[in-house]
Amino acid sequence: MTETEFSRRLSDSFVKNSLPEPDSRETAAFWILLNELTETNKVMNLTAITEPDEIISKHFVDSLLGSEEISSGSTVLDLGCGAGFPSLPLAICRPDLSIISLDSTAKKIAFVQKTAEKLQLSNLKTIVGRAEDPAIKEAIGKPNVIVSRAVARLNLLCELAFPLLPVGGLLFAMKGAKGEEELEEASKAIKLLGGGEPILQKRSLILSNDTSEERSLILIPKIKATPSGYPRPFATMRKKPL
Ligand code: SAH
Repeated sequence: MTETEFSRRLSDSFVKNSLPEPDSRETAAFWILLNELTETNKVMNLTAITEPDEIISKHFVDSLLGSEEISSGSTVLDLGCGAGFPSLPLAICRPDLSIISLDSTAKKIAFVQKTAEKLQLSNLKTIVGRAEDPAIKEAIGKPNVIVSRAVARLNLLCELAFPLLPVGGLLFAMKGAKGEEELEEASKAIKLLGGGEPILQKRSLILSNDTSEERSLILIPKIKATPSGYPRPFATMRKKPL
């Protein structure tokens, strides 16, 4: 795919999905990101999505669905960012946000760090570590929003995320078609960990062939302090989910 063709398809996909059309700086950044991802994926397993059109819709556009809900000036932790989704598209399109990309896999964070430097994204920093590790809390600081895509079922994600959020903060979980089911399953965990009334937004992600996939964006405010003792060790969380 040429850069011109890419630019046309990127714009089409953003507009179809009701996102603001990318400007020339953003388009140039996404072009570099596409190439970095494709090249690095040849030597390292970063993503199963390899077709440019699919990378545009399922990584770039998908990462930005609902991002208008994140208020300007927020410090946003991407919990389990993998190859940088949603954090890299967010950092490109929202220079008003401070982004922290966290993942437990060092080689994925090395990719995100290298790519952020190449894209001169001064609003993104990276951390290698596990969200439930007490030693990581200080490095993370105080994010007021936590975003997370495809990391863990919602009840488990809540246990990883709420202890890191201040009261008044927001958990923004990016889920697929089964979001509603996960939300029901997590209702006890949400209450116990200090979460308030969740908002579920159902969205359609429109693909390049005009078919669509269902997405569930779940927004949960933190309204009370999380009791001590959370998060529990990861093995316990998995064995005895809240
Ligand atoms: N958010 C990315 C990656 C999803 S794969 C995307 O949507 O494309 C899940 C990622 O979460 C993996 O890279 C894994 O290393 C990371 N992860 C899982 N549990 C974690 C934890 N407890 N703390 C930090 N990272 C975690």
